[in-house]
Amino acid sequence: MIEKITCSKQAFEMEDKYGAHNYHPLGVVISKAKGPFMWDVEGKKYFDFLSAYSAVNQGHCHPEIVNAMIEQAQTLTLTSRAFYNDVLGVYEKYITEYFGYEKVLPMNSGAEADETALKLCRKWAYLKKGLPENQAKIIVCDGNFHGRTITIISMSSDPDAFSGFGPFTPGFVKIPYNDIPALQKALEDPNVAGFLVEPIQGEAGVYVPDDGFLKKAYDLCKAKNVLFIADEVQTGIARTGKMLACDHEDVRPDILILGKALSGGTMPVSAVLADDEIMLCIKPGEHGSTFGGNPVGCKVAIAALEVVKKENLMEKAAHLGEIFRSEMRKVNSPMIESVRGKGLLNAVIIRPHNGKEAWDVCEKMKEMGVLAKPTHQHIIRFAPPLVISETELREAISIIISTIKSFE
Ligand code: PLP
Repeated sequence: MIEKITCSKQAFEMEDKYGAHNYHPLGVVISKAKGPFMWDVEGKKYFDFLSAYSAVNQGHCHPEIVNAMIEQAQTLTLTSRAFYNDVLGVYEKYITEYFGYEKVLPMNSGAEADETALKLCRKWAYLKKGLPENQAKIIVCDGNFHGRTITIISMSSDPDAFSGFGPFTPGFVKIPYNDIPALQKALEDPNVAGFLVEPIQGEAGVYVPDDGFLKKAYDLCKAKNVLFIADEVQTGIARTGKMLACDHEDVRPDILILGKALSGGTMPVSAVLADDEIMLCIKPGEHGSTFGGNPVGCKVAIAALEVVKKENLMEKAAHLGEIFRSEMRKVNSPMIESVRGKGLLNAVIIRPHNGKEAWDVCEKMKEMGVLAKPTHQHIIRFAPPLVISETELREAISIIISTIKSFE
């Protein structure tokens, strides 16, 4: 008989006993969610201020996305790419027109899309830029987070991510984030093929680069015939107040990587977008994925992207983000070191006080009805679904503030 979880303790124990210990979740067991809210198995209601790491921008269980999913799941779920299906082409046309690229390569997770972008960049470097075989280098930034595969952790500067997992994939050059002179210097190497960057470093703790950084970086790359590759897996799809975070500086990446909210948090759907000059460097048999471009994912992605436009989620994120930061910056608390972010991707940096840290704040916020998670010990990311209303946001802000104040 398959057991049913009816209380939190049961879930904690089962996961602890039978699951790998590769996560350290907050002690809450969610059993349902709708829009910006989640409910635990005991029936307590919470504001979700994580949005599954920005995958649920359109809100939990958005009816239009869920309906698209159900309808397609009852008709055709998977053909693999061994055959054509009657959905993929429609999706490819839709998403390329939506983001203004000539081609898309569909994948599933964000990490896979990043891997795809790296392969694409290397292939382009050999076929088009004329670099000698196996010599291509890709510049990445300290503090990056692009996923968990061996190649991706080979780019990481976070010992938790890479320690004990070597040997690593060569071909990456690390520079500090938000450092134009360092990029300029690294670009002097003629074997550099690409520069992979998050427009805002999400996992690192919502590091927003200086205004103009992306544009300058893009221009430097262009001058050296180097591909500017933007990982917008977390920052894309309206999260920062524009469709893409690169849009804040009118930068059009040569390779654009999307994931997470591309499915509104319903299933893994990711995508790499580029023009023919780059995308057609990969030929049949050279890259793929059994589930990439599956009909359900395609239908879900179309619905998820429609919702973003129909519900003006970009404008909402921009407006509500201003409110969040200005309200949080007004708070006079020894525990708040600073507040930063763009749109509804924000972070509050916690200064430990009386032995209490960001984790304690998150635990207490949970009791008060707001769910968020610390990253890198002292940073709490606040990223609610973009469908949250201004009234709801203000209610959540007052819970967050009174929680922090309660530690004084
Ligand atoms: N890239 C960025 C910028 C991310 O934030 C993440 C996940 O947090 C990833 C890639 C990896 O995505 P996934 O967990 O779907 O593999």
